[in-house]
Amino acid sequence: MIRNVVIVGGGSAGWMTAAAFERLLPEYNVTLIESPDVPVIGVGESTLGHINSYMHILGLKDEEWMKECCATYKVGIRFTNFYKNDGTYWDYPFVDPSDTAMPVGVKTMNWLEDKYPDKYRHPNWFARAVNGNTWLMEYNRLDPDERWGVFDRDYSYHLDAIKFGQWLRKNVCHNVKHIKAHVEDAHVTDKGIENIRLDTGDVISADLFVDCTGFKSLLLEHYLGVEHKSFNDILPNNNAIACRLNHVDVQNFTNGTGLKNGWVWNVPLWNRTGTGYVWSDKFTDKESAEQEFRDHIEETHGITPGNYQLKHIKIKNGKHAKAWHKNVVAVGLSYGFVEPLESTGLLTVHEQIRRIIELLQTRDGVVGSIDKSLLNNVADREMDGFADFVSWHYAFSMRRDSEYWRYVTEEIDYYRDHRGMNHPQDNIFSELAANKFIQHDITEEMGGNLYVVMGNKFSCVQGQGAMLLEKKYGAPNVEEWSQQVDNHMREAVQYTMGLPTSEEYLRQTIYAET
Ligand SMILES: Cc1cc2nc3c(=O)[nH]c(=O)nc-3n(C[C@H](O)[C@H](O)[C@H](O)COP(=O)(O)OP(=O)(O)OC[C@H]3O[C@@H](n4cnc5c(N)ncnc54)[C@H](O)[C@@H]3O)c2cc1C
Repeated sequence: MIRNVVIVGGGSAGWMTAAAFERLLPEYNVTLIESPDVPVIGVGESTLGHINSYMHILGLKDEEWMKECCATYKVGIRFTNFYKNDGTYWDYPFVDPSDTAMPVGVKTMNWLEDKYPDKYRHPNWFARAVNGNTWLMEYNRLDPDERWGVFDRDYSYHLDAIKFGQWLRKNVCHNVKHIKAHVEDAHVTDKGIENIRLDTGDVISADLFVDCTGFKSLLLEHYLGVEHKSFNDILPNNNAIACRLNHVDVQNFTNGTGLKNGWVWNVPLWNRTGTGYVWSDKFTDKESAEQEFRDHIEETHGITPGNYQLKHIKIKNGKHAKAWHKNVVAVGLSYGFVEPLESTGLLTVHEQIRRIIELLQTRDGVVGSIDKSLLNNVADREMDGFADFVSWHYAFSMRRDSEYWRYVTEEIDYYRDHRGMNHPQDNIFSELAANKFIQHDITEEMGGNLYVVMGNKFSCVQGQGAMLLEKKYGAPNVEEWSQQVDNHMREAVQYTMGLPTSEEYLRQTIYAET
């Protein structure tokens, strides 16, 4: 039976895990060890709506933590210069298109496009037609009444991840024993890690070690030898340059802009902007990438070099063969990472935490190999699914203007013979794993993918989708549908224009002077 838990690592993953134990399994003895010599990664500011489940199960209210973490609300992600290198963009507004109140449904879209190619020309028209959050993005508004979408998943946060970890440490983790020391060695047996030795000379043992040591994956990979499997075959980006700008423009979406050798993120916090260039060293070198990024900062923010600092980070795109092996389970970067284009980093953190807590709660801390295998199955599918999903953002692009874009659109073989997020699972083991752990349908839904393909003008419902629709609704009545879509969009714009801007709303609520 598990009762003594040692978390190694004090980044977002470490403190989010510790906070979950404190609130949900208070009878466990939890120790968190973090090295004073190894800094946290210090990036990771854009989240997805699923983080609200983590906030809810821990009982965390926006008014409590957002202000200290300089957080803002986010309703979607914008992809600029991904479709073409001409300033066009398409959006991924939160909420699956099939959940929204579209008059007819997503499968009408290709008929409309076929019949009225000029009218439905903009790569973003699909998102605009099916999801009200797109209009919130367009006019930078927030909707306190949540008329659009589904509660829980139609908004998330931009937050300072370091501050969030520290906020959890100070305000939630009151009973977590906190040790600042470097893990120097581990005693490994055939059962797993018996104990770890710190640079203070202390030797610490545990029933369960949670590896939150970042890309290093100290316990899972280094000491237990669990293999790392790279996603570089479909995701060639392997470097990032991160930067903080004193510039504030409170937008309700994260923007990703395609550059010559990768893309730049732009995350608006309340007090600053987080930005960074994710690039591949297959096509350029450090100095050129840095110059390209500096030019981009000057062009988009008007800020010249000398007014900010750059931090180079090596990215390890991939996952480990297992997340839970023997008495070690990995959470966060130590288990795996998909480049941050779709903000899936912290999602994999809180979803993994939720699974671990659920398993420990199910049978009072008794965890057998079948439990671990089920968890591993879902974690693995989640990672594969995210890797595929992110890779599509490049795969469907029309860009061919650099070696990088030619490579990602023409040379990578995107077909992989595996079963990832969007493939229905058909064996009893996977079904049981899904029944146990999958709360948000992230392994089954097609929603996000539809925004990607439609944003790149790849109409994807000519086939079975169209036939099924005809069976259900009869012959397509394109004129009538077009009218319905137009009315819907008109009404959406009217409604949106009456809402407070993101900044106004935040000033009235989270950042109101008291
Ligand atoms: C470029 C980039 C951009 C990202 N953007 C996003 C984003 O927009 N949204 C998102 O959700 N996620 C994003 N992520 C992911 C996100 O940053 C991470 O998922 C999150 O911060 C969790 O990191 P971590 O805690 O696993 O690792 P880290 O922050 O690296 O923490 C590792 C911890 O382990 C400790 N440690 C290491 N070795 C030892 C040792 N020997 N002894 C003791 N302690 C040790 C360190 O001291 C540290 O406390 C991004 C990641 C990268 C690389």
